[in-house]
Amino acid sequence: MQVTLAESAGFCFGVTRAINLVYSQIEENEGAIYTYGPIIHNEEVVKDLENKGVKVINDLDELKDLEAGTIVIRSHGISSDEYKQIEENGFSIVDATCPFVLKIHRVVEEYSKKGYHVVIVGNQSHPEVKGICGWVSGKNVTVVNNLDEAKNFQLKDEIPICIVSQTTFNLKKFQDIVEIIEKKGYDIIVLNTICSATEKRQTEAREIARKSDAMIVIGGKSSSNTQKLFEICKTECENTYYIQTSDDMDYTKLKSVNNVGITAGASTPKNIIEEVSKNVRNEL
Ligand code: SF4
Repeated sequence: MQVTLAESAGFCFGVTRAINLVYSQIEENEGAIYTYGPIIHNEEVVKDLENKGVKVINDLDELKDLEAGTIVIRSHGISSDEYKQIEENGFSIVDATCPFVLKIHRVVEEYSKKGYHVVIVGNQSHPEVKGICGWVSGKNVTVVNNLDEAKNFQLKDEIPICIVSQTTFNLKKFQDIVEIIEKKGYDIIVLNTICSATEKRQTEAREIARKSDAMIVIGGKSSSNTQKLFEICKTECENTYYIQTSDDMDYTKLKSVNNVGITAGASTPKNIIEEVSKNVRNEL
């Protein structure tokens, strides 16, 4: 009987940096501190910050009713208009946008200014994708999330296309979508902007799931990178469970299992991962 815990499970570099920036603001900044959206998809961390006086704002319309202060931009990043709106309302910005996301902002801005149509492979309703759309000049952008949307994609004008991906997208799915669009004969430049932390986490999850009789994926239900991990693990191991905390897992289901794999999304705290691993080991 064996338990394999993915080395890449848990906070990535971008999330760790964003959380540390908020905690250092608490120590250094005497004014009001806000985060634009929850800093990570984890209630425990968000609650702890709230207890230390950090408020979450979900809409910039809220700014007019708030005491001026500092807004921390989370790792997902925001659009250029949103930066302007925050500054025009007299708030300071501490920017925790992940450098991998900032790079995509620069790329889509540059190519759209050169006349390219931008295709973002990702989820249209995800904050990171919304932010990236906001850097495309002339709003000449299409978001493609699946194979059907790729098949239906077409442009009226004969202009070149720049394809990028959401940082946490499933690599295999990205490649399949690109292949479909490439076959349409457009002049295309493809930039795989899936971040290295995500790629490593997905590759490791796939390898572990392939060798496991049961696989546990830990992370918030609204965490895009955790959803992708679940998707990948499920294709390799039918017996894959998606849980947010240890309480969601019925460990008795592992009684007749020999190999259990565990991985976790980029915003899953270490203590939750450790608790799940401990309970799995006790069950086997
Ligand atoms: Fe940055 Fe990648 Fe982490 Fe997103 S998943 S915050 S892009 S390191």
